Amino acid sequence: MSRVLNRTLQNILSSADLPTLPVVASKVLELTTQEEVEVAEVIHLISQDIALSTKILKVANSAFYNFPQQIGSVQQAVSLLGINAVRSLVLSFTFLSMGEENTFKYFDLNGFWRLSLVRAAAARLISQYVGEVDPEELFTQGLLQNIGQLIFALTLPERYDTLLEELEIDNTRPDESLEEEYLGLAHTVSGAEVARCWCLPQSIVDAIRYHHAPAQYEGADCRNSSAVKIVYLSEMLARIFQSNMPIEAQEEFEEDARKMLGLPSEEIGHILKIINKKVTKSAQFFGVEMEPVRSVTEIIQEANIRLSLLHLSYEEMNRELQQAKNSLEELTAELTEKNHQLEQLANIDGLTEIHNHRYFQTFLRTELRRAKENNLPLTLLLADIDHFKQFNDRYGHQTGDFILKELCRAVLPMLRDYDLMARYGGEEFTFVLPDTSADGSLAVAQKICRLVAEHPFSNDSACYQVTLSIGATTIFPAETAISANECIDQADRALYEAKNRGRNQAISFHNLSRTNWLRM
Ligand code: GH3
Ligand code: MG
Ligand code: MG
Repeated sequence: MSRVLNRTLQNILSSADLPTLPVVASKVLELTTQEEVEVAEVIHLISQDIALSTKILKVANSAFYNFPQQIGSVQQAVSLLGINAVRSLVLSFTFLSMGEENTFKYFDLNGFWRLSLVRAAAARLISQYVGEVDPEELFTQGLLQNIGQLIFALTLPERYDTLLEELEIDNTRPDESLEEEYLGLAHTVSGAEVARCWCLPQSIVDAIRYHHAPAQYEGADCRNSSAVKIVYLSEMLARIFQSNMPIEAQEEFEEDARKMLGLPSEEIGHILKIINKKVTKSAQFFGVEMEPVRSVTEIIQEANIRLSLLHLSYEEMNRELQQAKNSLEELTAELTEKNHQLEQLANIDGLTEIHNHRYFQTFLRTELRRAKENNLPLTLLLADIDHFKQFNDRYGHQTGDFILKELCRAVLPMLRDYDLMARYGGEEFTFVLPDTSADGSLAVAQKICRLVAEHPFSNDSACYQVTLSIGATTIFPAETAISANECIDQADRALYEAKNRGRNQAISFHNLSRTNWLRM
């Protein structure tokens, strides 16, 4: 025992607030621990305390003992129940009124005794399934096992309050380690030492000392060894009623009861089945106010329901999360689509809805590269509506706009899928025709000229006629290095020539020098 521990213990033992045992209790103890028990003296002693004898007779005659005959005196009680049972009753009554006159801030005295009574009833019940132990003694041992906590509350009230406050915040730490940290010793030690001072029987001292760690009990007395285990198990059993994890508490109790006492499953099952009735009866007979104790089955059922509700809400949560994830994915897909549309829009001409100049520039460069890589020809046409200024002047810009749109609608179907028609700007259009030779290019250009010239541009009010001039160029990027701008320039020069030569015709750049141009 460390020095601090010694000092704390000394403080406790010398504290004016440490309760003393009532004279009757200590004398009964003294007389019953003698080798030759003075039964007559014990009876005389108890009989003199009218209140105590009344209480004892009340319990002796109750269903707690289930005696068929009426017990009318302490003497009869002793002869029928035995001296040990009567001594246990005296001790139980003595302790159950301990601490009554105090007011505590955090320590719940009634709660403490209620729980102690559950443990007492549990210890008594379990002991009935184990041979060689006295159920009445076990009741007292079960009742007193945590007396150390009451001692702390009485003798070190402030320090114990701080501990209880901490426990309210974090109740996951075991009592003993918190007690050692805050007070310097555990309630198992303080309880056992005080019990020794009160001259309680060694069996009670051992039960208090080892009720958290029965394996540490090294005494030779096998009855005490069994009692220590039973008291330990009584606390485990009581946990089913107080813990917010009763399923786990029940499992642990069952496992320990099997391992430590070798109890068969049916017996454990029976203990669990009737414990609540035993607790309720004990409370009634010892005058401890208590709500009717629910059955273990009911507690476990409720815990299972809570668990499945928790599981359900977990599933619901999961579903909601999945939904949120799905809508996020939908949103992302929508956004990608919108971005794609925006990108497309940036490449489309607002009036004619064909590709615009920007797109054409990119497309031409891509096709130049591809033609070079594949050693293929590439044709570029530049088309310009003839006298469009005059047309606008005559029919108005809106009709002019209609012509631009209708021209695209008429020409597009005659192109191949991989050809590009784009609005170069104003009334000028450009065509990029991959894999198209010089002859082919002129043929396409002429076809376009003819199609436009012959197309009836009809709107609601009238039918119009327009013509186009086209400049064409066909290049072999694999043979002659040429830039996109040079390419456009060649087509432009051919277009200029087409205008010069009277419009409504297609001219190839390659025929310019030889003046070998083709008229429609
Ligand atoms: P040319 O045969 O030499 O090409 O004569 P042109 O009148 O077509 O050529 P010019 O370059 O002098 O005039 C182009 C005209 O095209 C001017 C303008 O009114 C018209 N134009 C350009 N863009 C649009 C458009 O978006 N809508 C309409 N309605 N007209 C346009
Ligand atoms: Mg023009
Ligand atoms: Mg023009």
